[in-house]
Amino acid sequence: MVLRIVKLLISAAYALAVQPLYRHLSRCRDRSCILLYYHAVPPGTEAGLARQLDYLVKAATPVPLGFGGPFVPKVRYVIVTIDDAFRSAVERAVPELLKRRIPFAVFVPAGGLGQPPGWLEDPGRREASDSVATAEALRAIPPESVVFGSHTISHPHLPRLAKDEARREIQGSRRQLEALLGRDILYLSFPFGDFSPRDLDLCREAGYRQVLTSGYEPAFSPPDRFAKGRIGVNPSDWMIEFKLKAAGDYAWMAPVSALKKSFKNVLSFH
Ligand SMILES: [Zn+2]
Repeated sequence: MVLRIVKLLISAAYALAVQPLYRHLSRCRDRSCILLYYHAVPPGTEAGLARQLDYLVKAATPVPLGFGGPFVPKVRYVIVTIDDAFRSAVERAVPELLKRRIPFAVFVPAGGLGQPPGWLEDPGRREASDSVATAEALRAIPPESVVFGSHTISHPHLPRLAKDEARREIQGSRRQLEALLGRDILYLSFPFGDFSPRDLDLCREAGYRQVLTSGYEPAFSPPDRFAKGRIGVNPSDWMIEFKLKAAGDYAWMAPVSALKKSFKNVLSFH
């Protein structure tokens, strides 16, 4: 909780002081687009989620993943994505998104359909009682509203796998999902946001158009960059927290997360 408040305060300061200057200086300003990602939508969080989606419709322009413009200057674009394809998200978030005509993307772990999330490292997490939606439930979503993407087959930490295994997860999930859902799968989001340069090469080799991470990144980086960061949101986020996230004001966390990651990597080699 304390950490959450500290992050919120830094983001508020960023919104007031740094971002206006950054916006002014940035040439990508007119093509800025924030990508948000949700996971599970636990019972009791429906009202919070509805408030957040109402805000997105009012304060921003939600566009589908892969939106290539035209970008109107000074309009705030936002892309909603959902990782893990949990039943709770398909049952609670999807109807709310459809009601508001907000396009969205769902990233599916191809080998886990209809099953509990065996990849959770902390079994105490609330998602532990959730399960991945079935192929039928995903096929029932109106196709014009959703972009499906791969979240690999078994939701591994890709950098920990041998190259052939990683290739199977990246390429194989694309083929499996295309067969199951009858759609082109052009996007992938990395499980745990974890990837290495080798995994990026494998994604290019597999023909993905773009891959998404869970790393924060400046709101002003080009929306069509091959590996694109996103901002994690929860239906239980405080409204002020959600507004700052949706405005890109958590972007200051990008270098902080990168530093934390390299620190962890250094430690894991010793
Ligand atoms: Zn995931």
